[in-house]
Amino acid sequence: MRAAIVGGGITGMSAADTLSAQGVEVTLYESEATLGGLAASFRVDGVLLERFYHHLFTSDTAMVDVIERMGLIDRFEWLPTNNSYYAGRTYRLSTPIDLLRFTRISFFERIRLGILYLRSASLGDWQPLENLTAREWLIRQVGENTYRVVWEPLIRAKFGAYADQISAVWIWNKLKLRGSSRGKGQEERLGYLRGGFGQALEAWEAELRRRGVRIELNTPVERVLSADGQATGVRTAAGDEAYDQVLVTTAPDVLLSIAPDLPADYRARLGQIDYLANVCLTMQLDRKLSDTYWLNIGVQEMPFTGIIEHTNMQRSEIYGGAHLVYISRYLAHTEPSYAKSAEELLDEYLPHLQTIYPGFERSWVKNLWDWRARYTQPVIVRNYSQLLPPPETPVRNLWLACMAQIYPQDRGMNYAVVSGREAGERILERLGITPAP
Ligand SMILES: Cc1cc2nc3c(=O)[nH]c(=O)nc-3n(C[C@H](O)[C@H](O)[C@H](O)COP(=O)(O)OP(=O)(O)OC[C@H]3O[C@@H](n4cnc5c(N)ncnc54)[C@H](O)[C@@H]3O)c2cc1C
Repeated sequence: MRAAIVGGGITGMSAADTLSAQGVEVTLYESEATLGGLAASFRVDGVLLERFYHHLFTSDTAMVDVIERMGLIDRFEWLPTNNSYYAGRTYRLSTPIDLLRFTRISFFERIRLGILYLRSASLGDWQPLENLTAREWLIRQVGENTYRVVWEPLIRAKFGAYADQISAVWIWNKLKLRGSSRGKGQEERLGYLRGGFGQALEAWEAELRRRGVRIELNTPVERVLSADGQATGVRTAAGDEAYDQVLVTTAPDVLLSIAPDLPADYRARLGQIDYLANVCLTMQLDRKLSDTYWLNIGVQEMPFTGIIEHTNMQRSEIYGGAHLVYISRYLAHTEPSYAKSAEELLDEYLPHLQTIYPGFERSWVKNLWDWRARYTQPVIVRNYSQLLPPPETPVRNLWLACMAQIYPQDRGMNYAVVSGREAGERILERLGITPAP
């Protein structure tokens, strides 16, 4: 039995793991030079660092299991972190006490906001929220003013033109997640693998290779081949290759472009799912900017979504004393800034960084990297469950497992592990293979 997996991100790796463990002959095709997709890393002073900032929440047990299986659990830590919000000045917004001190809204509004956090953490049934936008739901919960002052700038900074369409389910899930990953002092606790998640991915890749998974890097799949409504193989620059099963783990857009035989109604449904791109500027500094790990930007004129000071979560000594900061920006891939170089991005960001961190100088920056990816965040709109693509496509033996299927939760490494495993299990079922316990 032969299976092709298109995309060597965590979903593809996880599916390859599940299938190869049961003796299926797997080829994993990845268009980039390394595995890992959005969770791929580069090296700073020889130490792996994610291109885009990454951490885990306490509910992310499937990814923690992978780290454990790779023999790296002793390097994995739950760390206290903090969040702040920039709106003309920096407000710390990590704990309930911080919220009480948040003077941008009235005391009564703060209490309502606190109740929203508490309610979100305990709300189990999200179905009644499906029909509401985040805007509608939040205004009902916290009032117009708090929405305008706190939420609107954040939602606009992340989703831009889509801001008013974002589902209440998406924002509820974010609130729930952040509320549940807390320590005794109510500070947020996030998980990180000391030395980088890339270590777990490298060990996983080695394990897959040991098991005989064929990994084809720098090999974009150009076409999924099919005959009589059934997938028969894939085409790459090296030619056509026959497979019994084909699993695509890329964004739906990519599936549509490489599988022209998919029927029109399915194409129309998948075509409605939009994704934002992200451009991330990573700076190596000779000093820290602040004590905040995660700074949300609540000023619409500022051209970025958040500033993440990685070395306020991990110790800078791990990176030879360097201070590492990500400046993240979600945007449409057609926006000019998506194509800007690291230097051009810094030019654009500099006056804003100097406003947030008075005294900030370009000379503090010792190294700069720019990372970008076209498909980084599916846009979760109202009634998304009606768009949600099932794992099985209308072409028999052609499957889809991707971030756009993670719902009501938001995409993340953990759900990539789960979704790859579940897709692998469905394929095993189709092949009549009962997994050995
Ligand atoms: C800015 C940012 C911050 C994030 N922060 C976190 C975080 O803190 N915690 C967390 O858990 N998650 C985080 N994530 C999300 C996490 O990285 C993703 O959910 C996860 O890595 C998705 O894995 P995937 O395999 O589903 O998709 P991807 O990683 O997108 O993998 C798809 C792969 O398919 C390949 N591909 C595309 N087309 C083809 C083709 N034609 N042929 C072959 N290969 C192809 C791509 O190159 C890619 O490697 C973040 C993501 C971003 C962008």
